[in-house]
Amino acid sequence: MYQSKEVRKGVFVLSLDNHVGIIEALTAFCEEKDITAGSITGLGAVSEATFRYLDPATNKYVDKTFSEQMEITNLTGNISRKGGKPYLHLHITASRSDYTCIGGHLLNGRINGACELFVESFEGAVVGRRADAETGINLYEF
Ligand code: FE
Repeated sequence: MYQSKEVRKGVFVLSLDNHVGIIEALTAFCEEKDITAGSITGLGAVSEATFRYLDPATNKYVDKTFSEQMEITNLTGNISRKGGKPYLHLHITASRSDYTCIGGHLLNGRINGACELFVESFEGAVVGRRADAETGINLYEF
């Protein structure tokens, strides 16, 4: 699903395999390395990506899938824990064939080409999540 190299203590360079799902691969990586808090940055290309928009007026999620080849011009996110499992919060900006960009909260994406990431594990730290009724968001819990 991926190849990785620890370049410094707790800092990994990661290459996702072609055609994998970003969330599945990153979740597996966090489980393998037992990362309980951390940060993610990266770039690459996808053939499909699903974004999620939270409408604050209704607290309802609106999901939209874009099935087209796009460059990941930026992927940024954080790693925490919820219910004892890795919890990824990822935002993406992706450029289309006409070079315009779309972006948002990333629900999932399928790699088509490459995906090169840096993951930093905040070694020894645990950051949790709790569901917040007012915002409908799983907020950080320290
Ligand atoms: Fe978000």
